[in-house]
Amino acid sequence: MTQEPTSETGAGNEASRPDQAAPPHPDLRGDDFRAAARRVADWVADYRERAEELPVRAQVEPGEVASALAASPPELGEPLDHILDDVDRIILPGLTHWNHPGFLAYFPSSATAPALLGEFVTAGLGSNAMLWLTSPAGTELEERVVDWLRQAVGLPPEFRGVIQDTASSSSFTALLAARQAAGLEIRRLGLAGRSDLPALIVYVSDQAHLSIEKGAIAAGLGQTNVRAIPSDSEFCMDPEALRQAVRSDREAGRRPLFVCATLGTTSSASVDPVSEIADIALEEGMWLHVDAAYAGPAAILPELRERFAGWERADSLVLNPHKWMGALVDCSVLLFRDPGVFRASLALTPEYVRTGVEGVTNLMDYGLPMGRRFRALKLWFLFRNFGLEGLRSLLRAHIEWATRFAGWVEHDPRFELLAPVSFSTVCFRATGAARRPGQTAPRNPEEVDELNRRLLDAVNRTGRVFMSHTVLHDRYTLRLAVGSVHNRAADVEAAYRGLSEALDALLNTD
Ligand code: PLP
Repeated sequence: MTQEPTSETGAGNEASRPDQAAPPHPDLRGDDFRAAARRVADWVADYRERAEELPVRAQVEPGEVASALAASPPELGEPLDHILDDVDRIILPGLTHWNHPGFLAYFPSSATAPALLGEFVTAGLGSNAMLWLTSPAGTELEERVVDWLRQAVGLPPEFRGVIQDTASSSSFTALLAARQAAGLEIRRLGLAGRSDLPALIVYVSDQAHLSIEKGAIAAGLGQTNVRAIPSDSEFCMDPEALRQAVRSDREAGRRPLFVCATLGTTSSASVDPVSEIADIALEEGMWLHVDAAYAGPAAILPELRERFAGWERADSLVLNPHKWMGALVDCSVLLFRDPGVFRASLALTPEYVRTGVEGVTNLMDYGLPMGRRFRALKLWFLFRNFGLEGLRSLLRAHIEWATRFAGWVEHDPRFELLAPVSFSTVCFRATGAARRPGQTAPRNPEEVDELNRRLLDAVNRTGRVFMSHTVLHDRYTLRLAVGSVHNRAADVEAAYRGLSEALDALLNTD
């Protein structure tokens, strides 16, 4: 028989019964939590100041971190101090430091102070913005900051949007919306086993990010139905080649579905001719997606706006504030014209998510995940604390330093530029030409590639800077990408000096 709660056994008497008043676990509360949070805040502040003293690229061998970690979980809890000590001892040496000022690789993704602090508040709140009801502020702030970004980059008011974790998720969601908009009942009937469907074709340039092809795989469209349209000598999609590819697919009975124009490609930051691509998308009834994951934030600079001309004609666009705006990973903004088609492609409303609140946005309807972090907070902190002027100064400085670096490379006969510098990314390499008699110059293209490989490794080994590489026109290419809030002019200079010294050393020892 169940015992009724009485003043002895039940509600109302918890305060005098410490065993019942406290949760049955060792979670820190009150002053203990405050002290631990202060220690962590100090730790993070110290890290941000001393990151520079650490080697930017991790110097560990594969498996080294794993071998320092306990093989099984502890049976008894440990003090947080011990855990933080192990962060210093095991984790820090096993990291490539994205917040190191010498991080000039890939597209940097760094943490401005307001974004980081906003993220801390997000963690403190632990709000899950899956439905409006589960986080009205999480939902409405997200809609507002996405609209602030839209305004800041000069896109028209008909665009709405949501914050996703990454551009890969944003573009995948756009592919699903395009599939939905094609009206082929794929949501209900799927793709497999259907003889009534033509192949659905996705077009990107041969410079596009892998996320579009990956999205096409995940959307069941098939890798062989992704066309890599050739790009021109400056790595921009050739619209005539796109037109021809679309024509030949139509002639073969396939259906052109989706074209992605990239503004700021991953290898060289090239800019596809989005206006011409938009014309073709319109003529052919294709969905136009714009991947501006890296370069999109640069549209806040009025002097660069014309590079984005035509992107306002897109059906969907992605920009990543976590790349070039210091909103720390993860924060990708997906903008679209027709929220209805996004909802129609994915939304499901079983009883347990029905709230009875009408006329509101339920963010879980716009992507695969149900649970959603309160990402808008860090963007709000960032916009308000930097202001658009602060963000513009950041981006302008990056572009100026990248342009300066490109000038040094261009005027140094030992190096050559391999792509125009559109934003803050420079593609270049050592030509292999000897500077002094006695230096051994490489003799063929393979040797020049090998020289550049070794040059990059030598510079990255110094721990002072970290650059990455790509291949352009079949040539191994070095890449310097300014874009971290921690980068300084001195770091870009150090990269050039490091390259210059390492190249001399390599040519002398060969
Ligand atoms: N699009 C472009 C042009 C990129 O350069 C990248 C990554 O660098 C992505 C998409 C993917 O970004 P995410 O890591 O947010 O998925």
